[in-house]
Amino acid sequence: MSELSLAYIFHHHQLLVDSQLQLPQVEKLADDVSLHTGDQVIARDLLEIAEIPAGYQLMPIRQLISLWSTAEFEQASRAMQLLEWRRNHKYCSHCGQVTQVHATEYAMVCPDCAYHQYPRVQPCVITVITRGKDEILLAKNAKNNTEMYGLIAGFVEVGETLEEAVQRETEEEVGIKVKNIQYLSSQPWPFPSNLMLAFKAEYVSGDIVLQEEEISDAQFFKFDQLPEIPFAGSIAYRMIQHVIHQQAMTEQND
Ligand SMILES: [Zn+2]
Repeated sequence: MSELSLAYIFHHHQLLVDSQLQLPQVEKLADDVSLHTGDQVIARDLLEIAEIPAGYQLMPIRQLISLWSTAEFEQASRAMQLLEWRRNHKYCSHCGQVTQVHATEYAMVCPDCAYHQYPRVQPCVITVITRGKDEILLAKNAKNNTEMYGLIAGFVEVGETLEEAVQRETEEEVGIKVKNIQYLSSQPWPFPSNLMLAFKAEYVSGDIVLQEEEISDAQFFKFDQLPEIPFAGSIAYRMIQHVIHQQAMTEQND
């Protein structure tokens, strides 16, 4: 009689999957977030007291990005973001009253003042910068204790266009000016709720000057002499392949 739902069950940033990376099937509870995908798919926080069912394990969602298709990862990240949003909006931010879940929309509603709190996405620009025909700017994040070199990225500020954000972030982080800013693609990134907007741009002028709190090193690298770069599955990886090998920015799952 009871219909089972496919469940994204999270414990912090870890997701419950079996040894084949398949999701569990569970009976839907009143507190579950429905993903509105047209079929029975829900998101749920694993209760602290709940035991992990036999045959299942918790896996960091970051690891799933390289194991799942983009569409699978995006649905999992959507589930995680909706749970986080609900957890962080238990009270009305206007008057402080305890909120209620809206019956049909993704909204937390105040019963007193009717203020609606919707999930929010943070736009974030990420830019691949080239110089001449065979050089790419790569930067090492000062907060990461790795040898990996990535791209310039940062949040869009209030009142700013995406192109202005690209120029500002580039000048702040590495002190150079860029031109011919062109949109490439986008990727939702659930840490915590970003939309990565990918651009390419060309170097115009300026010497590299590091913003030391953010960037520990940045250099123009020859295309055939790259350092360690971000992992396949990340938008940064696709952007680097796009400028070096003229690969399309679209989904590249086999
Ligand atoms: Zn209120």
